[in-house]
Amino acid sequence: MTKTKQRGLTPQHEDFSAWYNEVVYKADLADLSPVRGSIIVKPYGYAIWENIQRHLDAMFKATGHENLYFPLLIPTSFFEREADHVEGFSPELAVVTHAGGKALEEPLAIRPTSETIIGEAYSKWIQSYRDLPLLYNQWCNVLRWELRTRPFLRTTEFLWQEGHTAHATAEEAMAETRQMLEIYAEFAERYGALPVFRGEKTPGERFAGAQNTYTIEAMMRDGKALQAGTSHYMGDNFARAFNITFNDVNNQQAFVHTTSWGLSWRFIGALIMTHGDDKGLILPPPLAPHQVVVVPIYRADDDAARAAVLAEVGKLHAALKDAGVRVKVDDRQGMSPGWKFNEWEQKGVPLRLELGPKDLEAGAALLADRLSGEKRPVKLANLAQTLPDELERFQAALFERARDFRDAHIREVHTLEEFREGVEEGFVYATHCGDADSERWLQEHTKATARCVPFDGPSAEGSTCVHTGKPSGYPRKVIFGKAY
Ligand code: AMP
Repeated sequence: MTKTKQRGLTPQHEDFSAWYNEVVYKADLADLSPVRGSIIVKPYGYAIWENIQRHLDAMFKATGHENLYFPLLIPTSFFEREADHVEGFSPELAVVTHAGGKALEEPLAIRPTSETIIGEAYSKWIQSYRDLPLLYNQWCNVLRWELRTRPFLRTTEFLWQEGHTAHATAEEAMAETRQMLEIYAEFAERYGALPVFRGEKTPGERFAGAQNTYTIEAMMRDGKALQAGTSHYMGDNFARAFNITFNDVNNQQAFVHTTSWGLSWRFIGALIMTHGDDKGLILPPPLAPHQVVVVPIYRADDDAARAAVLAEVGKLHAALKDAGVRVKVDDRQGMSPGWKFNEWEQKGVPLRLELGPKDLEAGAALLADRLSGEKRPVKLANLAQTLPDELERFQAALFERARDFRDAHIREVHTLEEFREGVEEGFVYATHCGDADSERWLQEHTKATARCVPFDGPSAEGSTCVHTGKPSGYPRKVIFGKAY
């Protein structure tokens, strides 16, 4: 049995998928639910979600958005009003047909997303150009009857936020769509330490009912892609379906232009699979429930040493809290320090401070870094000042490591052979003609999908499709990869 196995995790290179599931359950993020495809999120996992919410919500509000709440149940007839939307979501709808012991007159869908019910309300709320733009968001659960499920990545019920905005012009709605994608990208990079590609989905990968879908795509440590957030430009599709009109400045009736954008707890899956290693999770400090764990060290039979160490730990705890650090003191009795170290390493706490009688004498503590595995003494006296900097350095190193890994696993390909090889290792940039049939063929034969047409990246000018040899359908080479 390997050392990592003794800690209870399958090494990543042996079976990445088994490693992922083990991390989710052993780091106590979630538990299985009695219903297939849904999960119970435990406090440690929920605390990560709360930190995601907190930062994203602040970014939404800083750009003028307000939160509201729409109901869970939506008349099924609403879904039929937008042809693409109904076609896209029908297979995933769960429908309530009975309630109060009786069959309902009209079955009610459990929301898979709320464009329809929100569209209906917006048609009442918007009369004039003065009512625009409407910049609303809701934090809620949704339900999609997914066939293949994985905790956080793809569950039937999941938590997310969905923003829904309405604008007087197409240009304004498009600017909003792009702004929200940039907010997701900035959030992912700054708070999640996740480097992401920003780009547009190909028509085959668009949201049902959207005119354009933009995405942030991250690379996991097995080289696979994860769509970490999406922003949709609906044009006036939903406005026409739900009759959302307004009187413009010239007193002419016009349809509004709408957007929607969503980021779910899948983001937790992205954090796990981008940063984690064979020991378990590694969490970015801005989203970690505990940024620092302090483990007091003393012999069980030495009461005086214990009292001295705990007194110092208490002071340290207060000083770090005052400095805005999320600190956890692990003073549980009857567990060895080594056992605690393993547990917090598995749970991905960025920094650990060890403090024993000898350290006290030296006026220092040992600082262990979850990313590098290094340990070094740090002065106790000014720890409250230096620790926030240590956390920032940790975050920067985490981001760089993820970016270096990603950059080492993406390459430009020119032939189908190179394409096949490339998507076994990571992502490829390939010229594509844009034909839906060709995209399907590539998916069937290589398991790779078009992740996005990136905003930045190699130009496709003058090159031809790796599959059909036709001219490129896009200004840039498309990023392909196998995906979750
Ligand atoms: P969509 O409304 O389909 O664009 O989804 C918005 C975001 O929610 C996507 O970018 C995904 O990251 C996430 N998402 C979609 N389906 C699921 C699911 N079944 N479980 C968890 N997250 C999901």
